[in-house]
Amino acid sequence: MERFSQSFIFTTKEVPKSAEAQSHILALRAGLLFMVSAGIYSYLPLGYKALRKVEAIIRKGMDRYGAQELFMSALQPIEMWTKTGRDKDLEEVMIRFKDRKQRQLCLGPTHEELITEIVKRYISSYKQLPLILYQIQSKFRDEPRPRYGLIRSCEFIMKDAYSFDADQEGLRQSYEKMHSAYQDIFKECGLKFIMAEADPGAMGGSLSHEFMVPARIGEDILFACPSCGKYFKKEGACPRCKKALREEKMIEVGHIFQLGTKYSIAQEAFFLNQRGKRLPFIMGCYGIGVSRVIAAIIETNCDEKGISWPKEVAPYDAILLVLEDKLTSEALSVATNLEKNQGLAILVDDRGVSAGVKFNDALLLGIPYILAMGKNYMSSKKIDVERRKTREKLTCTPQELVRFFQDEYSR
Ligand SMILES: [Zn+2]
Repeated sequence: MERFSQSFIFTTKEVPKSAEAQSHILALRAGLLFMVSAGIYSYLPLGYKALRKVEAIIRKGMDRYGAQELFMSALQPIEMWTKTGRDKDLEEVMIRFKDRKQRQLCLGPTHEELITEIVKRYISSYKQLPLILYQIQSKFRDEPRPRYGLIRSCEFIMKDAYSFDADQEGLRQSYEKMHSAYQDIFKECGLKFIMAEADPGAMGGSLSHEFMVPARIGEDILFACPSCGKYFKKEGACPRCKKALREEKMIEVGHIFQLGTKYSIAQEAFFLNQRGKRLPFIMGCYGIGVSRVIAAIIETNCDEKGISWPKEVAPYDAILLVLEDKLTSEALSVATNLEKNQGLAILVDDRGVSAGVKFNDALLLGIPYILAMGKNYMSSKKIDVERRKTREKLTCTPQELVRFFQDEYSR
């Protein structure tokens, strides 16, 4: 249980004019983020709690399919990129510099080259395959047009995974696993998403899928068939229904690629097969824009009053507003009891501000359940309960509240 009066949570009405996206405005107003400079953000405690929840969902999803977590350096020598030619391909977006020893370095915008160097050092036989490694880490881009807060920024958090297989069938299975993991992850994050076959672009390789969240501020476009509901990358009537397609804006939150041998051949990453033949690893790579997921969740889970976090990623489970000073100690014991018995994380708003300010901030912060102890509690020991998403209201005694949360969380 935490007390609002002692927490590092600050709401504000003031946001920079450059903030256009609802998710960006709300993240700043609710005190989730501190804007350091255009396209650069620091996570404040409330935003960091939500971020850690999303990361935990991602870890659970990846680990379930046998992926192993590591953590690679953001600093990378440029030589590592020359073998694949991507020092040129990614020249414009790569943040690079010389250190005092005149060593050319970059801050990794992605990690295919480095993971290939790591794996080729330790894996030499088909017996050690398949292998999926992943990390959750900050990435850097020299972004020409930072926009929409966490949607397009210069420093952002990615989950990037890499699979290594002995043959094409192995790659197909690894890709299938990640495809399933991504569906679990985005579902649990409370996102309505669409999967679309995509162009592998600068990554190289053959097959690729994007995971997209429909949103007004989306910078990617998909074409939807109004009849069968399928989505396509290119306009042209629906191949199945022959109906004209409708344009929809999307936020890309995940992208998976079958890379094949582009990196392993360029970097001479080989293993020995059953017959002792030297072959290049068959690779896949799998990205989730973790900070983008936060933005996409807010963008698609908000109303005119503020954010409405899905339960699984909310920074707290409930906020308890103390509307009469003399109820503070009783409110703290109700919150402590809920935490002990239900394992809920409760924020107790014990600040010396008006009830109006407390309710408005509670709606802005978007914690799934708003509890209030005020006049009702004084007369009949009833706590007012509001579901943030639907705005439905009811009243409960502290004992009934325990059962209420049991029911809500068993759904
Ligand atoms: Zn169709």
